[in-house]
Amino acid sequence: MYSSTPLLPAQSPQNHGRPTLILDLDNTLMSVRKGYTSPPLQAPSEFSFLGTGDNWWTAIKRPGIDDFLHEMATLYEIVVFTSGAPRYATNAVSHLDKSGCIAHTLCNVDCDEYFDPKEGKYVRVKDLTRLRRDLSRVVAVDDDPLYYSTCPLNAIGISYFTGDSSDQELEKLTPLLRSLAQEEDIPLALLKRRKELKEAQGHEGIKL
Ligand SMILES: [Mg+2]
Repeated sequence: MYSSTPLLPAQSPQNHGRPTLILDLDNTLMSVRKGYTSPPLQAPSEFSFLGTGDNWWTAIKRPGIDDFLHEMATLYEIVVFTSGAPRYATNAVSHLDKSGCIAHTLCNVDCDEYFDPKEGKYVRVKDLTRLRRDLSRVVAVDDDPLYYSTCPLNAIGISYFTGDSSDQELEKLTPLLRSLAQEEDIPLALLKRRKELKEAQGHEGIKL
C-alpha cells in the first residue's frame, strides 16, 4: 500500500536549511529486552518504558548516544524513523532525548509496504521520498538499510546493537556525518566515498 501524504511538516526556523538525519531506533540507538508486566529493575545505562498495551520494556542505550545526539543536533534536523508502534516510539524517544535534540519521530504507520515477488510477501519500507525534504540533503542510519530500498543511496548501515557496553559505532560514525553535513549532494558524496570507507580503519560498522 502506498500513500503520498508527506511525513514531515516544514522545517522549524531552528533547523531551516539544515540537512536531515534519519535515525532508526531499535538496535541502532538502543537495544530492548522483552516486555514485562511491571516496570523491571534497571541499570544506570538503561531505562524502562511502556510500549503498546501494558507491556513494559527495558532499553539499553547505545554507548555515546548523548554526545552523538548533541553534536548531530547542531548540524542536522534529526528525525527518528522506526517501524515500532507510536506509543512505543514516543515513550522510548522521550527517555533517549532529554534535551530535545530530535525534531520528529516517525513510526510504523509512517512506513509503506509493497509486495516483493522474490520474497513472496509484503515488505515494509521507510520511504524517504515522502519526507517533504530535498533528498540530496538527507542521510539515514539504520542497522537494516534494506528498509531504504526506495532510496538506497541515502542509507548508511550500522552494526546491530545488542547491548554491548564497549560498542563504539556512534563515535566512529560521527566524523562521516560531520563531513556529510557539509555536502550539497549527500547520496553522491556517499557513492564517491563507498570504496574509501569500506577500506578505512575504524569504520568497520559502516556498511554502505
Ligand atoms: Mg533497527
